[in-house]
Amino acid sequence: MMNYCYECGTELVPRELENEGMVLYCKTCRCFRFPIYSTAVSIIVLDPQKKHILLIQQYGRESNILVAGYINRTENAETAVARELKEEIGLNAVKLHFNRSEFFERSNTLMLNFTCIADSDSLDGLNSKEVDKAQWFTFEQAKAEIRPGSLAERFLLAYLDDIAGTGQEW
Ligand SMILES: [Zn+2]
Repeated sequence: MMNYCYECGTELVPRELENEGMVLYCKTCRCFRFPIYSTAVSIIVLDPQKKHILLIQQYGRESNILVAGYINRTENAETAVARELKEEIGLNAVKLHFNRSEFFERSNTLMLNFTCIADSDSLDGLNSKEVDKAQWFTFEQAKAEIRPGSLAERFLLAYLDDIAGTGQEW
């Protein structure tokens, strides 16, 4: 909970805002101050055959996670998905869809999970400055190999449940 104005440091007070209810207000700036947090994308990357999922290792840790990255100001989430896939893995996103979101308290970030289909399964364009290792797994392998207890695991398991339950192709 934000208690002080991020512009001037004045203590915020709740005030009624039309159609919004009670919102914190700075009497010095005469502005409503909505909570500030980051927004990021998390990406279930499928190979062109839609048979494999890409998991990566980063920051010297040997457990597998999903490709992810912050959304830039002015950028939309779909563009961020394509940009992150290109920057980190060197692949292009040909199709994507939104799955679900979860607020990640530890980094004050709203995570938006997408599935996207890559234009190739080549990992030759991997950005080794950002990604230690990237590997394709079958759906069953990915389930077993993703970091236990992680947000990436929750997104992946929910997605696999969705496609198993609805028969949607990807
Ligand atoms: Zn202020």
